[in-house]
Formats: sequence, structure tokens, C-alpha cells
Amino acid sequence: MTISQAGGAIVTRFAPSPTGRLHLGHAFSALVSHDLARTHGGNFLLRIEDIDAGRSREAFVDGIIEDLRWLGIGWDGEPVRQSSRLDAYRGALGALGAAGLIYPCFCTRADIAAAAAAPHGPEGAVYPGTCRRLDPADRAQRMQDEPHAWRLAMDAAVARVGAITWHDAAAGVVRAAPARFGDVVLARKDAPASYHLAVTVDDAWQRVSDVVRGADLFEATHIHRLLQALLGLPTPRYHHHALLADAEGRRLAKRDGAPTIAALREAGVEPQPLVADLRAGRMPVGLSVARV
Ligand code: GLU
Repeated sequence: MTISQAGGAIVTRFAPSPTGRLHLGHAFSALVSHDLARTHGGNFLLRIEDIDAGRSREAFVDGIIEDLRWLGIGWDGEPVRQSSRLDAYRGALGALGAAGLIYPCFCTRADIAAAAAAPHGPEGAVYPGTCRRLDPADRAQRMQDEPHAWRLAMDAAVARVGAITWHDAAAGVVRAAPARFGDVVLARKDAPASYHLAVTVDDAWQRVSDVVRGADLFEATHIHRLLQALLGLPTPRYHHHALLADAEGRRLAKRDGAPTIAALREAGVEPQPLVADLRAGRMPVGLSVARV
């Protein structure tokens, strides 16, 4: 992996959500990110993405740290916890609110599913805009009484920024096309930021120069690039790496019982050969690296 643009120190990060134990796919992603920084004399940061209080567990935070240490992947500074950054997310949301680009949404998942013929975007059903059309008095009243999320008014946001691009190590210059996601959620009913808002704000705050993450998050970058433009934040370079896949070409995922680092350790696997295999794009028995 090469850095094609000159200038500035390289800062990369690994940003797991503590909703389970790390598996081999995480280890691969952390290694790619770590090695990119270290190869260029840069910094590698650890960010714990624990804004989802309902699914995050302290035991998994401990597990992440234990597993990275066992793998020999060292990070710089203290890990940043997103749960300690809620004011920053509120600030970003406030700026978007002041620009008239967000609106409260009272819909439940069931409401959205029931809305007639909702088109599908890269992240599933596109929000049909029900709450965007609420009468202002009704909206003000409901804001007093009901829990609500905040959604981006996508059309207005796209019109505001015009044509924008980002650079991806594999895909080259990519023109951001966020409109097909519809009015995405930026703050949830149960959390003051969605993944999209928190990750965009934090990558800028931590001065991440190169975002390294799996190809499954490539599409989300369209939204992150839009938020950067709206919030006046810098755009990092992106490296969306191939996902690890099993012998049948299925991507490794927690829900499919992908081997956790903890399970491998308990089974007597040694970290050095495992890390060497991952670096070489080789997987332990029966697994291979595939482009997904
Ligand atoms: N927290 C996200 C995850 O665990 C990754 C975020 C990112 O790399 O942008 O899937």
C-alpha cells in the first residue's frame, strides 16, 4: 500500500465497536492500518466506537485491548472513547441545524417499513420523508412529547455542497454520490450521534490522514464526504481493503461464527505466525483472502 499524496504526517486508526470479540477480519484490518502508519513513520490510533450504549459492553473493550496486545499491535496515546465525545457530536449537529439541514424524525422502524413502496438505497430502505413534511406546529408539539432522531435533509445538503470527490487507494478519485441514501439519521433516538456523524467528526478531530477500513464501508464514505463538506472538515485519503473470506468466498462475520482472536488464542495458536499469515494475505487452514 502506498501513499500517493505528499505532505503531512500519516495518522491511521482502528475503530472497533465493542459489541463482540474481535475476529480475524478485525485483526487483518487493524494490521493493515497499523502497518500503513508504521511504514511511513506515522501514528496509529485506537478509537473505541461505543456510542451504541445498548450493544456496547465494557468486557468487549477489555477484550479489544487484550487481543491487540496479544497480536503485538501497539497504538499511540490513550484510546479515544466515543462515549466521551458526545458534546462534539452535539456541536456538529447544532451546526447542521443552524444551517437548516436537519429535521427531527419521530418514525419507528415499523412506520418506515409500512410506508408505501419505500425505494432501497445502499443501506436498505430509503426514508420516505414523512417527518420532513410535518406541519411546523405539529412538529414543535411532538418534539416536546416524543423521542426523536435527527435526519439530514439530503436534497438540501447535496445542493449546498455541489460536486465533491474523495480519493480511494483502490478506486482512485471517487465522485461522492450520497443522494441515493436519502435522509440518513445523524442522531438516534437513543444516542446523540449516528455512526456516520461520529466517525466523520472524530476522524477530523484526531487528524486521521488515512482512513483504513474494510470494503464493506466503502459506500458509507459517500455520506462521510458529504458531512465533511457541510461541516468544513478535511477529507482524509481512504483505503478500503479487501475483506477476509472463507474457503467458499463468504466474508468473515461475527454472526457466521468467524473465529475470534480469543478462541484462537485459547486453542493454542501463536500470535507471530498468525500475524505473519495475515500480513502475507494467507489465512489459517481453510480460509483465504478474497476481494469482495
Ligand atoms: N466502528 C466500525 C465497525 O466496527 C468501523 C468504523 C470505521 O472504520 O469507519 O465496524
